[in-house]
Order: sequence, then structure tokens, then C-alpha cells
Amino acid sequence: MREKLQDNSLRHLPAVDMVLRDDRIQTLLSRYARVLVTETIREVLERLRTELVQAPIQSQDPDGTGERRTILNRVVDEVTIGVQQKTQFSLRPVINATGVVLHTNLGRACLGEGTRAVLQQVGGNYSNLELDLVTGERGSRYAHTDWLLRQLTGAEASLVVNNNAAAVLLALNTLARDREVIVSRGQLVEIGGSFRVPEIMSQSGAVLREVGTTNKTYRRDYAQAINDRTALLLKVHTSNYRIIGFTQETALEEIVSLGREKGLPVMEDLGSGLLLDLQSWGLPAEPLIQDSIRAGADIVTFSGDKLLGGPQAGIIVGKKQYLDQMKKNPLLRALRIDKLTLAALEATLREYLDPNRALETIPTLRMLTISPEQLRQKADQLLVRLRELIGEEKLELNVLPGQSVVGGGSMPGQELPTWLVTVRAKAISAAALAKALRCQPDPVLVRIHDEQVILDVRTINETEYDRLVAAIAASLEEGVNCGRSSN
Ligand SMILES: *Cc1c(COP(=O)(O)O)cnc(C)c1O
Repeated sequence: MREKLQDNSLRHLPAVDMVLRDDRIQTLLSRYARVLVTETIREVLERLRTELVQAPIQSQDPDGTGERRTILNRVVDEVTIGVQQKTQFSLRPVINATGVVLHTNLGRACLGEGTRAVLQQVGGNYSNLELDLVTGERGSRYAHTDWLLRQLTGAEASLVVNNNAAAVLLALNTLARDREVIVSRGQLVEIGGSFRVPEIMSQSGAVLREVGTTNKTYRRDYAQAINDRTALLLKVHTSNYRIIGFTQETALEEIVSLGREKGLPVMEDLGSGLLLDLQSWGLPAEPLIQDSIRAGADIVTFSGDKLLGGPQAGIIVGKKQYLDQMKKNPLLRALRIDKLTLAALEATLREYLDPNRALETIPTLRMLTISPEQLRQKADQLLVRLRELIGEEKLELNVLPGQSVVGGGSMPGQELPTWLVTVRAKAISAAALAKALRCQPDPVLVRIHDEQVILDVRTINETEYDRLVAAIAASLEEGVNCGRSSN
């Protein structure tokens, strides 16, 4: 019986050839490559076949003409959408209206204008990546950021790798393989995207030696755990959460003095690499890289694309003797930074030579330090544009004060006062509007609160306003089609 029903339904499914003969598909063929279209037809037919097997349709008329027509139309529609999706870039810019400055899912830091220009130069040309232009001999790719990193952090030496997880892995593998690393129990953190201190430790071949308790760890806890297998004392900045109340963290200075006493190196994983104190802008006290170096840490690691505001990279600064060992570790080759990243990192670091300039030219820093008055102005301007171009018959609009978050596992719990444009669409729900906004040619990411779409102007550039307004207008049209998820 079931067999019979399936046969009956599948009979209505057109053959690839037949779909290809359809006028609408012929139009697609005049614009797109034939393989792209036929491949998409096959995918759509395959999907429908599975669907029909699971839920056969009951034929109304004996020869099934009506069903065949319906199915063919559906195939054509899905093929059209599928082809359009395939011809669009998968990875592309989005408008971040969430107010989360370092949004890991949205690519963390945005690069500034000067940095983007350098990327184009280095990417589009040959470069002296591993060539010393003075001697004409082979050079080191790590030399390009070395002077800058030493100058900006006060460290003796530097090394850059693919990301901070790689920096920690390389440091542990080089300095502590088959030996013990002492870490406070309160610092065995997990960072989004599956970086976990205990796991990276075991991958590096080092043995984790936990000391203290979740909320309190004293100098004596570290001291008691030291034995002849100890290789390193590690402090991890708990960058994405905070323990409050009855707590005790051992200061870096104290761990350093213990390390000196016992002849052991001390490493600090800072996570977010901050070079400028942002407390005057109402941001919390966050350890600066140069403070860790000054306090005597032998190795300090941090990310390039968190508070530093550069490309994804892992940066290691510290004592030359340890960095030299890391440079000789064969693992470095597997973790190495590519030339585009290196170019972007050098350009970002150069901005810091003039801190006032950096606050303007590095988008992450500009977004974190923009004044509430400026934010209010930005919100008012956006409101005016929305009113002018879409109008209040379709939207209920307001400007309200609110809070943004730093994100990217940086400055947990720290909220920054901001100004929001709230949008209530009269015809569709906030969730439907948010979804339609993600499916626009210029996708927009928003927050939803209280059945309203929230646009936080902190992370929206004024140059994006036209596209943002167009995306909202298009999202209010009927039949926004999101296609299929690529996951
Ligand atoms: C973010 C973070 C990492 C991982 O850095 P990536 O650059 O994302 O690899 C490691 N340790 C700490 C403390 C962090 O905050």
C-alpha cells in the first residue's frame, strides 16, 4: 500500500530535462552557468523526492495534471532562489546593529581604513614577506611587527601566530612539554569557540597542576605545588566572566616574585590585548599589556582581534630567551601567520604610535569611546532617515537610551550607555522583521526587546545608513525569501 502511494506521488516529479525546458529556467540559463542551474535542479528534485516519500500527496484528479503543475512551479521557484544563493558570496559584510562591539560571530574587530588600504597593497603585489631588502638575504616574517610590539609593550622580544589559542599552545608546548604548569582553579576558563585552558594544556603536552580553589588562590598555593617537574607558572586573565564576593586572586607581581625565587618562568594569557587605558571613557580597569611586562611576566599572550582592534592573530611578547625557543619549535610552522594578517596587524599597531590617532582610526576603539552625545546624534539622524524614507504608517519609531556590551569575551558585565532606535513594524512581528533583515542583500543583525527591533547605533557606521534603511524597507515587503541555511 505504502509502495503504491509513493509511486503515485513521485510520478508527479518532473525530470531534469523537463525543468530545463521551462521558460523561466531558460531565462536563468541565459544569465548563469549551465552547471550551476542543472546542479541546483538536481538538488531541488532530490529534496522534493525525499519530502514526497515521507508525505505523499493524494491525487485529486486521475491523471494528476494539477499536482504536476504545482510541483513544477515549486521546483522552478526553489531553483531560482537556489541559483541566486549560489551566485552570492557566502562570506560577506553585514550591518551590525546589535551594539556588541566585538561580536565573535560577526568577525570581532573591523579594520580601519588605513589598514584596509595596506591589505590591498600587500595582497595585490609581491612583498618582502621573508626577504631582508638591505642584505638581499632571507628574512623573517616575524620581523615586520617586532619593533612595533617591543616599542608598544616594552617587551624584549615578540612573535605573532594565527590566533591567541595558537600562541598559548606554542608557548606551553615549547616551555612545558611533559612537565607541569601551575594554574589557579579560578582561571581554568573556557572562551567561546571551544578554547579551554585544560584542553589546550593537554594538547600542548604539558601537565596541568591546579592550585587553590575556584574563588581563592594564594601565593602559598602556588609555592606548595612547585616541585622538580614544574616548568611554568601560568596566570590566565578571566576575560569573559567575573567571580565576585569572597575572592582572592594572586597578583601577577606575587607570582613573578615566586617565579624568580624558584627560577621558573611566569606566563600570562591576557586574552584581550589592551594597549590604551580606556577608563576615562567609562570603561573598566582592564590589565594593559605593558603593565604585565612591567610587572615582570616572562611571556604574555593576547589576541589581535579583541580589544586591540586588529585582525585575528595571536601575539606573544616577553623575554628573548623564551621567545627564541618558541621560534625554533617546529610547531610554529603549523601556526604561522599569513601575509595578509601580518600586513593588517602591522598597520593596526602603527596606529598606536599616536594614541590619540588610534582612538579615531581603529574602529573598535572608536566604537568603545564614542560619547553619549554623539550616539544620541547618530540615533536622531537614523530616526529622521527612517521617517523620511519609510514613514510612520508602517513603523512605530522611537529613540531611547539603552546599553551596549563590549563582547568578544572582553570586559564581562560592562555595559556602555548608548542610544537606540526602536522599531515596531505594524504588519509583522519583531522576530519576523529580524529574520527578514538577515536575508537582505545587505544583511542586518539586530537585537529584539519587548517585541521591538532594536538598532544600537554604537556599532553602525553613518556610511551604512542608506543600506540599513533600504534593508528595513525591503523587509517590510511581502514574501522575503531567506533560502536555505548553509549549515
Ligand atoms: C579570547 C581568549 C583566548 C583565545 O584567543 P583567540 O585569539 O580567540 O584564539 C585565549 N585566552 C583568553 C584568556 C582569551 O580571552
